[in-house]
Amino acid sequence: MEEIDRLRKEIDKIDSRIMNLVLERKRASSRVIAMKKHAGMPVYDSAREGGIIKSLLEEFGGALDERLISALMQAILDDSKAREGAPGKKKCALFSSAGTADAALELKARPFIIAGPCAAESLAQVESLAEKLAAMGIRFMRGGAFKPRTSPDSFQGLGAGGIKMLREAAAKRGMFLVTEVLDIVQLEENYDKIDMIQIGSRSMTSFELLKKIGKMTAADRKPVLLKRGWSSTLNELISASEYITRYGNTNVMLCLRGIRTFEQIDSDLRNTPDLAGILELKSMTGLPVVFDPSHATGNSKYVIDVAKAALLLGADGLMIEVHDHPEAAKSDGAQAILPEALREIAEFIRFRL
Ligand code: PEP
Ligand code: MN
Repeated sequence: MEEIDRLRKEIDKIDSRIMNLVLERKRASSRVIAMKKHAGMPVYDSAREGGIIKSLLEEFGGALDERLISALMQAILDDSKAREGAPGKKKCALFSSAGTADAALELKARPFIIAGPCAAESLAQVESLAEKLAAMGIRFMRGGAFKPRTSPDSFQGLGAGGIKMLREAAAKRGMFLVTEVLDIVQLEENYDKIDMIQIGSRSMTSFELLKKIGKMTAADRKPVLLKRGWSSTLNELISASEYITRYGNTNVMLCLRGIRTFEQIDSDLRNTPDLAGILELKSMTGLPVVFDPSHATGNSKYVIDVAKAALLLGADGLMIEVHDHPEAAKSDGAQAILPEALREIAEFIRFRL
């Protein structure tokens, strides 16, 4: 008993030392922020944040749980941002992993890749892709089961059966499922099977759906991927995110996926890649910014280069459509890349970024 008491006192002292170190770090970072502001430099440097966590993972990853390192450092980094207030036009919500589901913790390792087919088409297709993605180290598998198609004659998705296939294929390989719901009923019926809720471009202004997602995710703070409406401004996208964050879940990621401009009159691009939006959104909010080069270009021959550009501009993550047989895909085949092409992006992140 005496030994336990002695050890507990020692632990209390260690805890107090940890807090003092956090305080010391906070003071130093305040000085850096003040100097940057004085020099008119941008205060937030996402590349440095990522670098800090990466090098700590390298140094301590063997001895400590990687999730602990990421979550601890992210909480410390978030704290200095919150304290200073966000620059820019809109108030800032901060993505935070504290007390959340596993998927939110996993998202702390940036940049992350969300990849998979536009739509689940068959068990064989989903299983084959899941196997290849997992082998590449991808942790987030996307795939639509409820597809928001422009024409009612187009493939509408496999519905609940598609979610089941995707869920099982992802979960048995330790991946998280990212999938879209179009309405409140689909949300309620599938909530527990989805690790990250996707809200599509067409639904960005479905405010009742957004509110419901905000309320439902307030307790578990499940991550939400909110895609930009193709004719929405960045401020409109941020306002849409506030329909969710105001109920308490700030784990919302903003996804740029191209916008419609006059360029579409006579180019091979389905949309105009809104790449500079990455810079803007990052200066306007504390939310992670994801770039979707598949919908942004609509053309597989541009997907890899635009994905790399997005990474170089500081995107926190990418969402990419892949298919084993793009020519036979039931939706968005023209923009689907092969799994081998995705490997090039994964390696770019690992070795070149
Ligand atoms: C999708 O990601 O499957 C999709 C439908 O994209 P968007 O909502 O951006 O058109
Ligand atoms: Mn698609």
